[in-house]
Amino acid sequence: RAEYGSTLMLLRRLAADRSWTLVELPADADGRADLDGLRERLSAGLSLVTVPHIASHHGVVQPAAAIGALCRAAGVPLVLDACQSFGHVDVTGAGATAYVGTSRKWLAGPRGVGFLIVPGLTPAMDAPFPALHGHADGVPLPGAVRYEGAEAAMAARLGLGEAVREHLALGPAAVHAHLADLGRTTRRTLDGAGGWRVREPLDEPSALITLRPPPGDSAADARARATRAGLLISVVPAARAPLALTEPVLRVSPPPGTLPETLTALARVLSER
Ligand SMILES: *Cc1c(COP(=O)(O)O)cnc(C)c1O
Repeated sequence: RAEYGSTLMLLRRLAADRSWTLVELPADADGRADLDGLRERLSAGLSLVTVPHIASHHGVVQPAAAIGALCRAAGVPLVLDACQSFGHVDVTGAGATAYVGTSRKWLAGPRGVGFLIVPGLTPAMDAPFPALHGHADGVPLPGAVRYEGAEAAMAARLGLGEAVREHLALGPAAVHAHLADLGRTTRRTLDGAGGWRVREPLDEPSALITLRPPPGDSAADARARATRAGLLISVVPAARAPLALTEPVLRVSPPPGTLPETLTALARVLSER
């Protein structure tokens, strides 16, 4: 249900082209995967599972390791969308078949570049858009080179490499702990301000916070007030998660090092209407 809007568009098109049936996996009231429900669906027969580790419209961290274990036990490949979780929360231990990530979010790398990690590449796993240099006589070369276009924005790729190096130098565990702490502080500071309510459990270990407006206020108005106060927050349109959202939500993603004063200033912005 939390599937990212553009991934959902792609899945729907693939489903129409290839006569796939898309199945929504069961989740609880927080949108967290229901593991017993998933186990049942897996035993009823699924060919592929795709899960956004953290969605764009909601800060709940999906239990990736438990989902991965269930998928492996059932022999069903898992694609973990870690676009919002690399550089944010621990992604190790999921044992996914493939991970997709982006440079431009929590890794704070350049825009326009992302990455795919396939720990156990098999010859059958060709790229969806095969490129000449990843192939010899139309046959995929061994290794991940088959997925790469040689004509690409190399500066952005180098920038992503540098961002990953910086992340490793800071220590991923320290970054994750800091962001979890920042998320908790942010939720506790903002929840109830001017009647706005945090949509995730307050102690969710992520720094992606979303809020629902009180009657008479809206995400767009709050963002405009924040902009005037020099604070950049975003409105997530319903199209970002079409299965989960019926209206836009306000999202706050405090970067590492955000000061408590900044959060207090944002709480003030939310309450002044
Ligand atoms: C942002 C995002 C993507 C896509 O990332 P791009 O950098 O636009 O390719 C995919 N999935 C989720 C959950 C995201 O938040």
